[in-house]
Amino acid sequence: MLSAVRVISARSYSNVAPTTKLFIDGKFQESQTTQWIELHDPATNNLVTRVPQSTKSEMNAAVESARNAYQSWKRTTVLTRQQLMLKLQHVIRRDMKKLAANITLEQGKTLADAEGDVMRGLQVVEHSCSAGSLLQGESLQNIATDMDCVSYKLPLGVTAGICPFNFPAMIPLWMFPLALIAGNTSIIKPSERDPGATMLLMELLNEVGCPPGVVNVIHGSRDAVNFICDNPDIKAISFVGSDTAGQYIYQRGCANGKRVQSNMGAKNHAVVLPDANKEMSIDQLCGAAFGAAGQRCMAISVAVLVGEAQKWIPDIVARAKKLKVNAGHEPGTDVGPVISPVAKERICHLIESGIKQGAKCDLDGRNVVVEKYPKGNFVGPTILSNVRPSYDCYKQEIFGPVLIIVHADTMEEAIEIINSNPYGNGTAIFTTSGSNARQFVNEIDVGQVGVNVPIPVPLPMFSFTGSRGSFWGDLHFYGKQGLNFYTQTKTITSMWRKGQSLTKSTVSMPVH
Ligand code: NAD
Repeated sequence: MLSAVRVISARSYSNVAPTTKLFIDGKFQESQTTQWIELHDPATNNLVTRVPQSTKSEMNAAVESARNAYQSWKRTTVLTRQQLMLKLQHVIRRDMKKLAANITLEQGKTLADAEGDVMRGLQVVEHSCSAGSLLQGESLQNIATDMDCVSYKLPLGVTAGICPFNFPAMIPLWMFPLALIAGNTSIIKPSERDPGATMLLMELLNEVGCPPGVVNVIHGSRDAVNFICDNPDIKAISFVGSDTAGQYIYQRGCANGKRVQSNMGAKNHAVVLPDANKEMSIDQLCGAAFGAAGQRCMAISVAVLVGEAQKWIPDIVARAKKLKVNAGHEPGTDVGPVISPVAKERICHLIESGIKQGAKCDLDGRNVVVEKYPKGNFVGPTILSNVRPSYDCYKQEIFGPVLIIVHADTMEEAIEIINSNPYGNGTAIFTTSGSNARQFVNEIDVGQVGVNVPIPVPLPMFSFTGSRGSFWGDLHFYGKQGLNFYTQTKTITSMWRKGQSLTKSTVSMPVH
């Protein structure tokens, strides 16, 4: 009930749009920019807020604040940092519905899904609370005579995170909590299309006593990104988003000597074997293809139906038809709007091109009617079968509620199709055969694999390990790799010898 009230009150300011503030040195500040990006509610296209293109001096102030804060933050004890994260996880959990309502308003996904967005980020905060173990280095006594060796994981300095629109809470929470727990400070640039959740998280950081400057938020698009890539005080960049931006940021950041991790686009295939549990597989397939209106980097966008499973298309269509398309805050909604009219147009164009190139349209969601929200960016679940790998709708990431169906006669052929695709974010197999599952897991060249699990996004004890075209970099997000990304190693070799006296300088390479 409370969340419904909050959504309605948040929706009431459509005529007088407030501005989204910057967060610099612990304070929310109005930008002095003259350039603003309008943010619209995807369900109504009412203006929600105006997001500033931060000025150069504002971005410099954010970095200066983060640089200054780093001098004291890096000296805080691990226990102090852990306690901050323990408090943060408590208030995020408390404000879950408020965060979710904001996400639904700005991004469009359903309230239940928005809570999932927050929850998956919260789990990273919770995981970071075990920093006492996670940040331990290595040690070895008597590595040589009278000599011991120890290594520490130490922070890098100021780090930055550049975020996409589709998970406004989870992805910033993949970034700054781990950066902070390792002793770094952080600059976050949320998506200019839905920065609200990040701003609420900054309120929470202030509430739990995070020192000013430890996290700062700047807004904008390409200029802000270029600033982050070029600023010499920023040592590492975490990026999540599209291929175009990710490849550009990786190249520009690396050319400037920074550490960069870049999670990018996807085309996730699910293989359905004829021995699979039919009802369960179809439910999972539809949930993973159409949930969040298909705007998840791990959404299943291609189903590879093997052998007899090709006869299941009518059942998949029947299941997809049951999904309710409506505004994300309306009770019972399964599929909310897509992020913008431009996104809707692009999705519809790719559906059209698929049909023109020879696909069969088993379910067409392009003209879906949502009576109460006629101006929303709605696309209903859409299913295209008989699709060939040369079609644009197969080659491009559609990022909408569209399931492409391709056929394979054998599992080996399905594996070949997937391994030939340039992306490697996620894949899944539905089967009741252990040996088939095992063969699939061993032969598939994709970084995250689900066996009867449609969206195999690992929990934060592991890392998010997309591969090939879906990831550029070395160290992945969260888990052990995430902490390695945000730390550098210092190795100390000590020798303490009683009565040590050297009679001669050793000029050759010491071999101990
Ligand atoms: P996007 O690339 O448009 O935006 C992401 C960020 O990059 C934003 O902060 C934006 O300001 C900036 N940006 C956009 N275009 C830029 C450009 N040309 N140069 C420099 N910076 C630019 O991505 P999006 O549309 O917000 O998010 C959807 C994409 O993100 C999809 O491709 C999806 O697969 C991907 N994604 C990937 C993962 C993953 O973990 N692999 C997770 C979520 C989303």
